Amino acid sequence: MFDNLSEKLDKALHTLRGHGQITEINVAETTKEVRRALLDADVNFKIAKEFTNRVKEKALGQDVLTTLQPGQLMVKIVKDELTQLMGGESEGINLSGTPSVILMSGLQGSGKTTFSGKLANYLKTKKTKKPLLVACDVYRPAAIDQLHVVGDQIGVEVYSDRENNDPVAIAKAGIDKAKAEGFNVVIIDTAGRLAVDEAMMTEISNIHSAIQPQETLFVVDSMTGQDAVNTAKAFNDVLNFDGVILTKLDGDTRGGAAISIKSVVDKPIKFIGTGEKMEAIDVFYPSRMADRILG
Ligand code: GDP
Repeated sequence: MFDNLSEKLDKALHTLRGHGQITEINVAETTKEVRRALLDADVNFKIAKEFTNRVKEKALGQDVLTTLQPGQLMVKIVKDELTQLMGGESEGINLSGTPSVILMSGLQGSGKTTFSGKLANYLKTKKTKKPLLVACDVYRPAAIDQLHVVGDQIGVEVYSDRENNDPVAIAKAGIDKAKAEGFNVVIIDTAGRLAVDEAMMTEISNIHSAIQPQETLFVVDSMTGQDAVNTAKAFNDVLNFDGVILTKLDGDTRGGAAISIKSVVDKPIKFIGTGEKMEAIDVFYPSRMADRILG
């Protein structure tokens, strides 16, 4: 589907063989390919440009090792830089509270409810935690039903209150229930909208200040490309969230949104969603994502 950047760089750098160093001229040829690969992966144009300038500086004057072809050396430089840009090491979530409260935010359809279930299942099986799911979408009864279906599937209890239309009160009642009944993680699923709007931002911001979660996660559909960046910025301006969840990476996307979001909001991507099933969750590894983006 995509051309391999490694091959492209090899081609662009073929003139270099026999020379000892990467020079200005051959770097100019290759940065074009690097930039194109990033744009193909849906990385924001400005970020791609800044990135290639950095790679250029790094590459200039590097000795070409006999064991590495110049193209491979460039790929290595690009990959290392990309990995750094996406945060280097993977980062976990803060589970220090009693209970630890995790607030999910994001647009409708981004995968919040699905991911809430996946995370509860992950914490239950991998970290032997006892999670409680809380349904705070008071606008769509179907969203509450969906969380109950998910909870049943993974054997995790769901707190909801269909008579109550105040999400702050529901969130607080959920936390009280967790305290009273010995749940040590509370995952709060909230209402999204199709696009960023003031009412949604006010609501999530009210929930956030009322419950002061240990961890606020922003869930975003990786297929939404450039829009993902604007949405991330809008949510981060209001919530100053702790981490990003990139969903639907099983789809037809290179995942460039990971780079753009990290560059714009400077928050770690913590987990990825790779399918509709409850098991389709993975810790985010910057170096793996760099491989995927480079193809
Ligand atoms: P919410 O409105 O933010 O709660 O989003 P949902 O959790 O309801 O997800 C919206 C749709 O995306 C549903 O059909 C999910 O099954 C689907 N979905 C969620 N996460 C993933 C994922 O990682 N991969 C795929 N392929 N589909 C997903």
